[in-house]
Amino acid sequence: MSVDTKKLAALLEWYKQSLGDNLVAALVVNRDGLIMDSLVGDLEKSLSEEIISGLSALVEPVLTRITEEFSSGSFGTGTFDTEDYRFIFCESGPEAVLVTVLEAIAGVDSVFPYAYLAAEKIARIFDGRTVSPVIPKLVADSGANNVQRKLEKLQKVNIKSGEYAFKLILGGDGAVGKTSMVHRYVENKFETDYKSTIGTSIMKKECTFKELKSKVRFVIWDLAGQAQFKRVRQSYLANAEAGLLVYDVTNRSSFENIDKNWYREIKKASPNIVLILVGNKIDLESNRVVSRDEGETLAQKLTLTYVETSAKTGENVNDAFKMLALQIIKKFIETQDF
Ligand code: GDP
Ligand code: MG
Repeated sequence: MSVDTKKLAALLEWYKQSLGDNLVAALVVNRDGLIMDSLVGDLEKSLSEEIISGLSALVEPVLTRITEEFSSGSFGTGTFDTEDYRFIFCESGPEAVLVTVLEAIAGVDSVFPYAYLAAEKIARIFDGRTVSPVIPKLVADSGANNVQRKLEKLQKVNIKSGEYAFKLILGGDGAVGKTSMVHRYVENKFETDYKSTIGTSIMKKECTFKELKSKVRFVIWDLAGQAQFKRVRQSYLANAEAGLLVYDVTNRSSFENIDKNWYREIKKASPNIVLILVGNKIDLESNRVVSRDEGETLAQKLTLTYVETSAKTGENVNDAFKMLALQIIKKFIETQDF
């Protein structure tokens, strides 16, 4: 595949002109989130490298998530907000995706028509058809309804009858075993040394309840190095429907921090979240410093279900996720307000 990179660069330049100060950055990425070309808005020019690398860390997991949520792999257009930015993902043929990054407060309506046009042109550049990189001024309003329709389609993503997909997050101090629990649950594996990956890793797992004819699909977001990434944390914790609050039964301060920090921070970011409390590492019984009674008392205080697990032996790990899924179904059926 030979892409006319000059034309691509020219097109991005035109795109920038069309959006003016609204634009923080525009990136053309492939389906794996790898950047093929990018450009930073004038206001951020001096910081461009830093911005692009920061953005790419956000783009990749989001793209994976959007793609996964559409079983066909085709998602059309998606928007995603973080604390600082607003992202618009536009499919651009089978190979590329145009990612437009705006300030968090920017309106998107005036941007959409340009984004569609640019994405269409990028698709042509990728498959070698002739196309002009020039983006004309569009009359306001044209195509606005169309955009609205596409957005609605996006927001209705994938809730089919009896099948729900929920964002699941993990709260708790570093090294309590959050990543290990997810790997145990998703892959049924335990490794003693996970590289602390940068950014977010996103995994998917279905939990089926035959009796209820229901399936809960968890989209599990595992954020590495919470402490270092405060800025990302807020958007990580937001819009979550489910969460595990994890502490380590051999580490008292990890237990105390559940009540002191994690519970409140998560509830603030996602007020309707369904949580359960998990005391992990029960295989290390001789090092235990937090008793089961203390765990249960805290759970009662916070009105949560309590489970004790070992990601190492696998004890109760599936049950922890299953209990969470059941509570979600229950809540879903009772309130119907998801
Ligand atoms: P995270 O920072 O909360 O994601 O924690 P990790 O999953 O990276 O685990 C931190 C360390 O604790 C790693 O060395 C794991 O191997 C270890 N670990 C995690 N869960 C257990 C467990 O249930 N039992 C034991 N013995 N070690 C565990
Ligand atoms: Mg981890």
